[in-house]
Amino acid sequence: MPGRWTWTDAAIFIAVITALQLAMFLLLTKVFLGMITEGDRCPVCDGETQAIERQGWWRLISFGLRNRRSWCLSCGWEGLLRRSDAWVARERERRRAWRQVERVRRARP
Ligand SMILES: [Zn+2]
Repeated sequence: MPGRWTWTDAAIFIAVITALQLAMFLLLTKVFLGMITEGDRCPVCDGETQAIERQGWWRLISFGLRNRRSWCLSCGWEGLLRRSDAWVARERERRRAWRQVERVRRARP
């Protein structure tokens, strides 16, 4: 009979909608992250960018070590940049070197 529904139908409906929304959200997040430029160059003028401290909602959207909030020194562009694999490797190396220097400095009187 048309126009009749049960709670089972409602539950299925809600489950399907929730699943679709979740899939959409994940897809959009992936697309959004894929759109972020990789590297530390400004996407507008190819100038040098500086990382700025993340505050408020920036913390939320630029999660992880790879994404950084950047500010261009030349043209004032501000946005998210994705750190490249090379950068991540370099940063890891830099931190290791820094730790080594600290250890040597602490050992000396
Ligand atoms: Zn720029």
